[in-house]
Amino acid sequence: MTSLEDLPIRDDLRGRSPYGAPQKSVPVALNVNENTHPIPEDVAHDIVARVAAAILRLNRYPDREFTELREALAGYLGHGLTPEHIWAANGSNEVLQHLLQAFGGPGRSALGFEPTYSMYGLLASGTGTRWVTAPRDDDFELGPEAAVAAVLEHDPDLVLMCAPNNPTGTPLDLDTIRAVADVARGIVIVDEAYFEFAEPGTPSALTLLEGRPRLVVSRTMSKAFAFAGARVGYLAGDPATIDALRLVRLPYHLSALTQAAALGALAHADEMLAMVDEIRGQRVRLSAELARLGFAPYRSGSNFVLFGGVDDPHAVFEALLARGILIRDLGIRGHLRVTAGTEAETTAFLEAIAVFAPERAAGAAENRIDA
Ligand SMILES: *Cc1c(COP(=O)(O)O)cnc(C)c1O
Repeated sequence: MTSLEDLPIRDDLRGRSPYGAPQKSVPVALNVNENTHPIPEDVAHDIVARVAAAILRLNRYPDREFTELREALAGYLGHGLTPEHIWAANGSNEVLQHLLQAFGGPGRSALGFEPTYSMYGLLASGTGTRWVTAPRDDDFELGPEAAVAAVLEHDPDLVLMCAPNNPTGTPLDLDTIRAVADVARGIVIVDEAYFEFAEPGTPSALTLLEGRPRLVVSRTMSKAFAFAGARVGYLAGDPATIDALRLVRLPYHLSALTQAAALGALAHADEMLAMVDEIRGQRVRLSAELARLGFAPYRSGSNFVLFGGVDDPHAVFEALLARGILIRDLGIRGHLRVTAGTEAETTAFLEAIAVFAPERAAGAAENRIDA
């Protein structure tokens, strides 16, 4: 059998590992920050009707400019955005790839603040862009001074800021984004994949777009919108920046079926997002309960919680998996990440993790001393 080593693969891809979050069929899957609530049945029926109509026209290529979808996305985002400000692709990962293809590439660099979304580094390597990183502080926060210092030090062609940050959940102040946009000479990407889960009233980086043509804000329908399987991500930015993405996208990259399905979901945005408050409530519950158990959860503005205080993350991950509960071991020492699910899923996780609670271990130690 041929191995990768035997193939004339690009030198810069040798020895790399692909994206590999485990995909397992388990009763409680809380590992990739999906919305674990199924989409409402009446919405599903409308989507099916729209997809059925699109199927009858599949002999023709889809609208290459996905004009109707850009109109619907601009309407959803508000902030005075028009279809000319909108781009979309098969997941926001593809949107980010378009940005790296257009503005990165060989001899260019992209800067991120680790730990952050692992796909940034992979998309950089896939496009031959050098991936450079700067650290977050001890609480995984990112303030304006540290961010600006990193931009000045590395002078990147692109800056990727995840707000709130995956895998830490950390919200990002607009102050930091503003300060980075002021000093960066390249494209500044704010990835708001989890924006809808932020505390109500949290301002979006969309409010900063006016007058900043190199700033772009990406969003996705994969998380709050409960549409991960459909693969729809999008971006708002200056129309000229979006013209640059037209140079690198494949023609007709958004299939007629994807466009029809996304339009159906957006037509029912309120219903699709109806579970967001409930999920945010479960995330608040996760943070409170994990703290009560003696773990160290980080501040989260998303639908997941990263927590420290785990003696052996791999062992805990495996023990929970044996009980049908899949969470995420990111290889951050002493830490695990869990997605807020339905109330029942969150309860199942909290009951299972309680066995490994530092409080319990400390209590047991005290008891031993007493005895
Ligand atoms: C999940 C996630 C995305 C979404 O990816 P899609 O390709 O839209 O499914 C983007 N950015 C971050 C940080 C994520 O966690």
